[in-house]
Amino acid sequence: MTQKVAFIGLGVMGYPMAGHLHQQGYDVCVFNRTTSKAQQWCEQYAGRMAVTPAEAALNADIVFVCVGNDDDVRDVVLGEQGALQAMSAESILVDHSTVSADVARELYAICKKQQIGFLDAPVSGGQAGAENGQLTVMVGGDSADFVRAEPVINSFARCCKLLGGSGSGQLAKMMNQICIAGVVQGLAEALHFGQSAGMDCAAVIEVISQGAAQSWQMQNRYQTMLNGEYEHGFAVDWMRKDLNIALQEARNNGSSLPLTALVDQFYAEVQKLGGNRWDTSSLLTRFK
Ligand code: NAP
Repeated sequence: MTQKVAFIGLGVMGYPMAGHLHQQGYDVCVFNRTTSKAQQWCEQYAGRMAVTPAEAALNADIVFVCVGNDDDVRDVVLGEQGALQAMSAESILVDHSTVSADVARELYAICKKQQIGFLDAPVSGGQAGAENGQLTVMVGGDSADFVRAEPVINSFARCCKLLGGSGSGQLAKMMNQICIAGVVQGLAEALHFGQSAGMDCAAVIEVISQGAAQSWQMQNRYQTMLNGEYEHGFAVDWMRKDLNIALQEARNNGSSLPLTALVDQFYAEVQKLGGNRWDTSSLLTRFK
């Protein structure tokens, strides 16, 4: 029998992720707060839509969520019309939003009482990864739930791994964002330095990207940074949300994140320049 799934949150990421589920043959029912996006999705995929998260979740074997922050996840899961109002025992809730490990553990505990599985499963790979079905998915939760959900998640993932108990997916995503913050700032400083020294930065990057300095950011962002183009990619507002989740977690676990804290302040400066929706590579604009 076709597995029934629900997808809540048809944003930049969720819209194509739900599309991949449909294309893999799952019976998908979508919910989006702004109804027009759900209507557009249904027209594109000849799919079904619901007017509340609960209605979408009714009879679903797996309910996927991809919304914004902690409060947004609580709204669509725990709210009066939230998914948990309708989910049945033995179903699984998979949260792809990037949120705190605390909210993941909170939802895991609430779901457990209702015999519902909960996996925190934030993603990496951006809009392109979601559209191409090539996301990396970092998962926390129980292995029995993971084993059931993984083949379905693989509809839009090239790598999906269980990394530990509840909250571990979010902790892994924090490590991912901590890495990116330092790498992007390093790239911005190198380009700023090269421009100040009168170097042909594009030529230099072509050479050094073949060596130990290479990174995804270097390969995919140096050209747009040199062109001053930032109306694409992963928004500064989202990055600050993610870095603040990591900084808060570091306060809880006693780790020290000096570089992350500094780069977060640099992003605050980019926001003051009007860059809330610019790509994270816009750190270079601070030097102008
Ligand atoms: P987005 O384009 O802004 O979409 C957010 C979605 O969440 C929209 O469908 C929005 O509904 C819905 N939403 C937000 N708050 C809600 C609430 N309180 N109740 C109901 N629906 C709500 O965001 P996105 O880029 O898809 O990102 C989604 C999540 O993935 C975030 O946690 C983000 O950090 C993470 N992420 C994003 C990227 C990326 O490159 N964009 C990469 C990795 C991870 P409306 O349409 O009504 O606004």
